[in-house]
Amino acid sequence: MRFVDEFRDPQLAKTLLEQLHQRAGLLPYTADKPLQIMEVCGGHTHAIFKFGLDKLLPPQLEFIHGPGCPVCVLPMGRIDACCEIAAHPEVIFCTFGDALRVPGQHGSLAQARERGADIRVVYSPLDGLRLARENPARQVVFFALGFETTQPVTAVTLQQARRERLTNFSIFCQHISLMPTLRSLLSQDDVRIDAFLAPGHVSMITGAAPYHFINQEFGKPLVISGFEPLDMLQSVLMLVKQVGEASCKTENQYRRVVPEQGNLLAQKAMREVFTLSGSSEWRGLGMIERSGISLTSAYAMFDVERRFSPQAQPVADDPRSRCGEVLTGRCKPHQCPLFGTGCTPHNAFGALMVSSEGACAAWYQYRHQEATIASQPQHKQQQKVSQDE
Ligand code: SF4
Repeated sequence: MRFVDEFRDPQLAKTLLEQLHQRAGLLPYTADKPLQIMEVCGGHTHAIFKFGLDKLLPPQLEFIHGPGCPVCVLPMGRIDACCEIAAHPEVIFCTFGDALRVPGQHGSLAQARERGADIRVVYSPLDGLRLARENPARQVVFFALGFETTQPVTAVTLQQARRERLTNFSIFCQHISLMPTLRSLLSQDDVRIDAFLAPGHVSMITGAAPYHFINQEFGKPLVISGFEPLDMLQSVLMLVKQVGEASCKTENQYRRVVPEQGNLLAQKAMREVFTLSGSSEWRGLGMIERSGISLTSAYAMFDVERRFSPQAQPVADDPRSRCGEVLTGRCKPHQCPLFGTGCTPHNAFGALMVSSEGACAAWYQYRHQEATIASQPQHKQQQKVSQDE
């Protein structure tokens, strides 16, 4: 298959679903205690809601939404640190748009910009590098976020900055590594995950090998999946086959994009620039060993924390929000008491509602509309007519 339409072919989807229903019916799972498949990546979460895949699954299977959105796992205190750095008059602070509206304890970066901070939305760290060249009298800071998907481009940007001996460019390094995050999730007593759909984009960089501990140490099957509906249905079928055959391995459904070894050049750049740096705290996940990423000594001069020493700002999450529980699959977005009332995409309380990859934003975009339509008198009338017919 070469074109998007082919990955959304209704006939192929029907065939896959028939196989899925047939195989799932043979598993020792029920609607009350379904096989829980965590889709780690926010891109998968959006595809599930956009195409209604969760509604097509047999009742013995359930998707639970994982922590694979880097903005969503960012603790509030890091946003406060960003605002503190951006408040320095000489700083041009660059960020991806997703992070702009994430609330910190003292407001978001968008609000800091309204207060006068020079905060600019960029599409790549290379845009930040260009700004540094164009503004030699200013300090340009890039807010470096993301799992292994975005780390290579930050690494390459810093390699370029080093070659050019730029002294007015630095990064606030908040990259996070996926594997310690998954290990931490699996180590929590009250989190039940039976199988994983692994993110295609991260895997494109890492390859399949880093996931093997999930099979070997935790006994969970995992399939690296693409993002189109047929990709995901096929991946779920692969997982169900594994469970049915009592096998437990890492499989790669997304072979057209994910090489088995990953991207070796990207891995080399990441090794040169980044190092895992002890424990780090993430929203909803708590303290995770060896999950923080910092710059190697050769690149330490690009570390903004050395230049501005922002205050460490531990901030407890608001007890009313259930962001952490949604991130770890303990509850669904609409079960948060703030969902759709105190927390909407226009007035977000938590990052999962702000980020375009957040589970709450996906639920709100696709399921909230359904709930609204279903509650409209006209819709109820139409339903009644069709029932009467
Ligand atoms: S609705 Fe808002 S506060 Fe509640 S879990 Fe989602 S993002 Fe967090």
